[in-house]
Amino acid sequence: MEKQNVPEIFGSLVFDDRVMRARLSDKIYKSLRKTIDENVKLDDDVAEAVAVEMRDWAIENGATHFTHWFQPLTGVTAEKHDSFITPSPDGGVLMEFSGKELIKGEPDASSFPSGGLRATFEARGYTAWDPTSYAFIKDHTLCIPTAFCSYSGEALDKKTPLLRSMQALDREAKRVLKLFGKEVKYVRTSVGPEQEYFLIDKEVFDKRPDLIYTGRTLFGAMPPKGQELDDHYFGVIKPRVTEFMEDLNNELWKLGILAKTEHNEVAPAQHELAPIFSTTNVATDNNQLTMEIMQKVARKHGMVCLLHEKPFAGVNGSGKHNNWSMATDTGVNLLSPGDTPYENAQFLLFLTAVIEAVDEYQDLLRLSVATAGNDHRLGANEAPPAIISIFLGDELSAILEAIKEDKPYVGAEKVQMKLGVHSIPRFSKDSTDRNRTSPFAFTGNKFEFRSLGSANSIACCNIMLNAAVADTLKKYADELEKAEDFETSLHELIKRVIIKHERILFNGNGYGEEWVKEAVEVRGLSNLRTTADAMPHLLDKKNMDMLIGEKVFTEAEIQSRCEIMLENYCKTVNIEGHTMVEMVRKDYLPAIEGYLYSLAKTTSLMKSVSDKVKCNYEVSTMERLSELTDYILESVEKLEASLEDLKSYDDIIKTSEAVRDKVLPDMEKLRGYVDEAEMLTSERYWPFPSYGKLLFSV
Ligand code: ADP
Ligand code: MG
Repeated sequence: MEKQNVPEIFGSLVFDDRVMRARLSDKIYKSLRKTIDENVKLDDDVAEAVAVEMRDWAIENGATHFTHWFQPLTGVTAEKHDSFITPSPDGGVLMEFSGKELIKGEPDASSFPSGGLRATFEARGYTAWDPTSYAFIKDHTLCIPTAFCSYSGEALDKKTPLLRSMQALDREAKRVLKLFGKEVKYVRTSVGPEQEYFLIDKEVFDKRPDLIYTGRTLFGAMPPKGQELDDHYFGVIKPRVTEFMEDLNNELWKLGILAKTEHNEVAPAQHELAPIFSTTNVATDNNQLTMEIMQKVARKHGMVCLLHEKPFAGVNGSGKHNNWSMATDTGVNLLSPGDTPYENAQFLLFLTAVIEAVDEYQDLLRLSVATAGNDHRLGANEAPPAIISIFLGDELSAILEAIKEDKPYVGAEKVQMKLGVHSIPRFSKDSTDRNRTSPFAFTGNKFEFRSLGSANSIACCNIMLNAAVADTLKKYADELEKAEDFETSLHELIKRVIIKHERILFNGNGYGEEWVKEAVEVRGLSNLRTTADAMPHLLDKKNMDMLIGEKVFTEAEIQSRCEIMLENYCKTVNIEGHTMVEMVRKDYLPAIEGYLYSLAKTTSLMKSVSDKVKCNYEVSTMERLSELTDYILESVEKLEASLEDLKSYDDIIKTSEAVRDKVLPDMEKLRGYVDEAEMLTSERYWPFPSYGKLLFSV
């Protein structure tokens, strides 16, 4: 691979601040900057001027088309390319792009999921430029990050509610900061998403219909070697993967994505990439792009990048860690313990706001990461359980305990720490220990939400997190603004919140069976194991009230989203079920039959030669395999019936329950028999590459 000058290529395909400053007039630049930084409405003439420069810059960099790039509820990004050309009178063409085209697009919305919104509103939707996320060039196309709404303004995408949730948090956090005597321009949430993925060779991939249709293996006996030696985690990266990573980094850097860390993960063929954190909406756009580019670059290297949460049963699945914090425009991280007692009091208030928000809205956080794929991972001893809890570490926990008990805090060195405002103690900054089993861990100056599946858009969980924290901060601001003695009220409030919400705090082993028992039976935390269990809670009154109150969703949007997510769950499993049926009937059963035939022929031939041969191996294998084919047939018929039965429900919640209670168990049973048959059948007869071949293919 040719050597790259990283600073030179970084952002070379992005219409970023450097380009804007260089190309726009001072007046236009300042006015655009105001829109980006302070959310001030963009004037038409500014848009016009920006469009002209954007077009020229894009054409200079090889673009011929433009597109509004958006994130419909399918979970992937959407784009419809238009070329810049318009006919000129002399028979040639001009390259045109107007301010109107920059600001607003009107794609036909009718083929995107809208969950009933379309029935009540017009089929056409519109896309609106999000100037806070820079435009970029991909495949000769100028991509303009946009929000996607119905004609009446109902959000049909993930970006719109995300931006609304960021606004809510900005609004309420500023009110709270004011109480501490701080006036800031804005408070923004930042996210650094760590992304896991698998790489397998394209040739073996192409031989597996389950991977092609569903992104995961629906069958496959365990290989003799999996991840038990832990020899892959942080291990030396193989040359082919190194080349892929170099290429990937270059592509991401060109798009201004801060790809930073890369390493092997726990499972064979599993890897991780982490960027440096950025503002949440930008991080979301960048993560969507990262997933897309990963898949593209892998193809170029003769491999396939699997983003499914659980491509292989019995082997660790892939997740995504959402590192989240709140910071002011002046660069103060509100989740960073301060140097003075007063700053610490402020920190503790924001911290308790997160604690309360996570406890009150556990179900929203859980359902924000709920998909058919992620259900296989959560609680499977490799990822946090479906129960949401917070890890704070020993020191912070001891501080909260001291506040709760009105006792002075004694620090790690057993010296009494200097107490600040009314017993709110100070403590050192670097006091986080590591707990990998917690779904929501405080890691020094940020929270790490670890329940996301690798294919999830990070928009969903951040919408819920921002909205819930905003709503909690609002309550605090309402209360403290009225307080006569701010410091006393602050202390009382923090103490009260700790007492009320300490059940959500858990520093122990989140993977253990005891925790499930304690969490559910003693603490009353919710344990929503599947998407079918979790998603309907979106419609709970407390959740609707909060989300509507914070203006993050309208009632119709919430209804439609619940429906779309459940539909997605049902469709995904439905496709998996049908894929299994096809593989079993067309390939597995005939293959086993072929092997049985060969065994039977061998046995009778051998016996005809000599009546002394026993043919124990042939006969016992035949007996068990023949038994298994009966079970397989029985199970596949049962699965077919369950799949057929899904059509009889007209309610999506009922359908999803049938998926959970009938289809998925049928699939598991069928798989068990086929996997056992795989171990008894000669590889020459087996129709698909084994787990070993897939996992060690690169
Ligand atoms: P790990 O969890 O693997 O130890 P790191 O601590 O290196 O990872 O960071 C993980 C991610 O957290 C990175 O994407 C990093 O940029 C991001 N991160 C670091 N600080 C913050 C912050 N204040 N807010 C949000 N994300 C952050
Ligand atoms: Mg991490």
